[in-house]
Amino acid sequence: MSVFDHPEFANHEHVAFYRDEEAGLSAIIAVHNTNLGPALGGCRMWPYIDSAEALTDVLRLSKGMTYKAAMANLKLGGGKSVIIGDPRKQKTPQMMAAMGKFVDSLGGKYFTAEDSGIAVTDLQQMAEHSQYIAGTKAQYHYAGEQPDGNPAPSTAYGVFVGLKAAVSYALKSDLKGIKVAIQGMGHVGYRLAKHLHEAGAELFVTDIYPEGVERAVKEFNATAVAPEDIYTLDVDVIAPCALGASINDETLPTIKAKVIAGAANNQLAREDIGDVLRERGILYAPDYVINAGGVIDIYHQRMESSSNDAMREHIEQIGETLNEIFERAETEQKATNRVANMIAEERFTGKA
Ligand code: NAD
Repeated sequence: MSVFDHPEFANHEHVAFYRDEEAGLSAIIAVHNTNLGPALGGCRMWPYIDSAEALTDVLRLSKGMTYKAAMANLKLGGGKSVIIGDPRKQKTPQMMAAMGKFVDSLGGKYFTAEDSGIAVTDLQQMAEHSQYIAGTKAQYHYAGEQPDGNPAPSTAYGVFVGLKAAVSYALKSDLKGIKVAIQGMGHVGYRLAKHLHEAGAELFVTDIYPEGVERAVKEFNATAVAPEDIYTLDVDVIAPCALGASINDETLPTIKAKVIAGAANNQLAREDIGDVLRERGILYAPDYVINAGGVIDIYHQRMESSSNDAMREHIEQIGETLNEIFERAETEQKATNRVANMIAEERFTGKA
């Protein structure tokens, strides 16, 4: 199948394939759109079955980044890169150097950053061969703490701000006494739990591993819940912070919450699930809007003249963007995920 006939091809500006046999590198970079600025998107290393699977992933993910950047008010476009291989077995410094050269060959049209299978040390090796590598230095922290390059604190703060906006819109309430069920006590989920606890929310938490849950029970007085029960609880808010497609045909009928607001990517198994949520009066905060704190963080870390405050204020805009989506969804009687896509397209195509 050619790239142009591929079902995930969406008028991508540039798709580049690269092989360096000596370095063992087979990689693809997809630049979806650069109308708002150079494309930013992480580099994923994954044991894809074949190059067709890698191409599908990179086309889909790069398009998603255009929408995310547009909704996060960033002067950036969307791109992504994938390396075909097992990061635990096949990754070498030589391969990362070759990847740096590949990124560099696009001349600044595409900036890469961290994603699954790629760590900061890998980016540092790439950065020896290209100036277009983001996420290698940390100089700002949204709360003024020592920055360490991990975007999860900014992501969690953005989700907290967005969840607060969604609760205020749907329930006309602040967070005091609001019951929130969080799926996933990882880097983002745990930090979100901390913010919510400090704001007076009552927490119900789950994970497939006990450590994070035990910590949340001890530190935030949270109630531990079995993973299969988290979406059945009589709570006000569900915060998916684990894996994608967790709002699906199986979980949908069990949901009693009136708000869904969490960090996970691709929370809805299908776009039309957003329509069902709207019909049932459940307010969904579109995932790529509410979880943009991390990409906002990466953007500011590269700016020579930003500050902790500027980064925090930018992350806080997530609340205003969500309110714009909620209001328009109500006026136009459309699902919030569809309205988010429409606003993003208006922004990056310049056609309102
Ligand atoms: P993480 O891997 O640190 O945490 C995910 C947690 O979910 C883990 O503790 C894992 O054990 C748990 N989990 C997995 N399957 C589960 C299940 N079925 N039930 C309950 N728990 C389960 O990841 P993270 O960095 O905290 O990210 C969480 C989500 O947010 C991911 O979907 C990620 O793609 C998305 N996200 C993260 C960032 C970021 O800055 N880290 C930015 C944007 C989006």
